[in-house]
Amino acid sequence: MPSFSPKSEARLSTCHPDLQAVCRELIKQYDFSVLCGRRNKAEQDAAFAAGNSRLKYPQSKHNAKPSLAVDIAPYPIDWSNLARFREMLCRFDALARLMLERGEIESEFEYGADWARLKDYPHIEIKS
Ligand SMILES: [Zn+2]
Repeated sequence: MPSFSPKSEARLSTCHPDLQAVCRELIKQYDFSVLCGRRNKAEQDAAFAAGNSRLKYPQSKHNAKPSLAVDIAPYPIDWSNLARFREMLCRFDALARLMLERGEIESEFEYGADWARLKDYPHIEIKS
């Protein structure tokens, strides 16, 4: 059974409990890395400067405490294989719907892969 690396675990622990809950179920059936949880001001400034975020601190859902967004990627990471990202997101979404139905979480999620422009495949955020 796959499990989180210490880095993934540390990043995930900065996220909202519902994001954590779904990720902790998903890792049992699908190996993936947590690339980013909460970003503090310095980290958001760096992400903005690098073009990895379009938002300035504290507008990103990654800036909330706990983080209302998480970035995940199939392990091992292959940025050219978007089909794997879609498969991972399908699995995440199926689990999330089931867990919501069972009352194990209260949140619904939005996926950066669904955005019409500037798709952000690793990004999952809690719907506001
Ligand atoms: Zn993100």
